[in-house]
Amino acid sequence: MKNVFILIGAPGSGKGTLSKMLVDKLNIAHISSGDMLRAEITKGSELSLQLKELLSEGKLIDDNLMTEMINTRIQQEDCKNGFILDGYPRTLQQVKLLDKMLSQSEIKLYAFYLEIDDDTLIKRITGRYACANCGAIYNKYTANPKKEGVCDKCSGTVFTTREDDNIDTFNKRLGTFKAELQEILAFYQKLGILYKFDATLGKDKMQEKLLEIIN
Ligand code: AMP
Repeated sequence: MKNVFILIGAPGSGKGTLSKMLVDKLNIAHISSGDMLRAEITKGSELSLQLKELLSEGKLIDDNLMTEMINTRIQQEDCKNGFILDGYPRTLQQVKLLDKMLSQSEIKLYAFYLEIDDDTLIKRITGRYACANCGAIYNKYTANPKKEGVCDKCSGTVFTTREDDNIDTFNKRLGTFKAELQEILAFYQKLGILYKFDATLGKDKMQEKLLEIIN
């Protein structure tokens, strides 16, 4: 039976880090809805302009369109052992659409909720930057490269920030995230598959807890 992990957490709560742990442990596909949308934007398709505007304003993409994109993605070969959904579902409607989509599959479903306070989030988001060459993530307050201005992983010297990682857009994204959070958590709680993580715990403790759950 394949494992499917749903990661629920505000922007900056560490869904990417937890995903990486799961990928390393279980060799399953990591599906980030935000990354999918950003990739679509770079294609210059008809949809790109529309998506670009929504993302830069911190607004959500239509539930059906997002679900369709995810549905196409999970049919791919690399998802056959299982996959991680990072950033999807984000609304109660998406939760219901996903539930329907997976209802015929033989899967074991986990919903992981990363709990974190707003102040920590703001620091993580407004300080976040990445190496333009390899994508390694840094933070100007808490995690700069060992040598200033030089990427630890690939020695690149050009860095970028995400357009939506500014305080105004962040506040909107956080508000959007919180809008239906309780209903989403209640849905998975009722199914008995909700696991809560303290997202400020640090990588080692998070990994420990993760292993306890999946083993
Ligand atoms: P993220 O990288 O997960 O923070 O997502 C970046 C942006 O992509 C969000 O602020 C939304 O505009 C859009 N987005 C990502 N996932 C979803 C989703 N499941 N439903 C609707 N919009 C999404």
